[in-house]
Amino acid sequence: EVAREALDRLVVDVPDFPEPGVVFKDITPVLADHDGFTAVVAALAEHGRLDDGQVVDKVVGMEARGFILAAPVALALGAGFVPVRKAGKLPRETHAVSYSLEYGDATLELHRDAISPGDRVLLVDDVLATGGTARATRELVEACGGIVTGLAVLMELSFLPGRETVGDLPVSSLVTL
Ligand code: IMP
Repeated sequence: EVAREALDRLVVDVPDFPEPGVVFKDITPVLADHDGFTAVVAALAEHGRLDDGQVVDKVVGMEARGFILAAPVALALGAGFVPVRKAGKLPRETHAVSYSLEYGDATLELHRDAISPGDRVLLVDDVLATGGTARATRELVEACGGIVTGLAVLMELSFLPGRETVGDLPVSSLVTL
């Protein structure tokens, strides 16, 4: 379909970024292509439609590329958009979760009042790699009393343990590498 074809054609592999040995998937050419961007947003938004015929209440995007995708997905669904940010960026009361990266630690935050108890929430990001970001984000939403219905990503790196890390969270990826 159009979204997959756009990803296959437009995502650029960048060797040794951000460090030696890592092949970084640069999705920015997909964003710069109107048809490609439209198609991937529509495909991600499908995962915000629930079995009961309703749509999720909130779409959460993780800093920074998750913002670019989650915001138009939220608008397409008629849902709200909520950012999860790196430590120290959100101005009001937050929940915070720290997790370990390959090198060092990271902390993510979510405004406490951004998700209401019982809200159904779709997580959106560009790439599922180790899964640490997604797992931490789920914990933040759950700390607010929200229910994470799934994670939708453009690409999943299957040589990393992302799915294991996120446990029973349903993952939908447009492309698996
Ligand atoms: P994880 O926490 O290891 O799953 O890493 C996921 C986070 O790192 C996501 O927010 C991605 O945006 C980013 N990321 C990891 N690898 C890549 C990549 O190859 N291209 C773009 N983003 C990546």
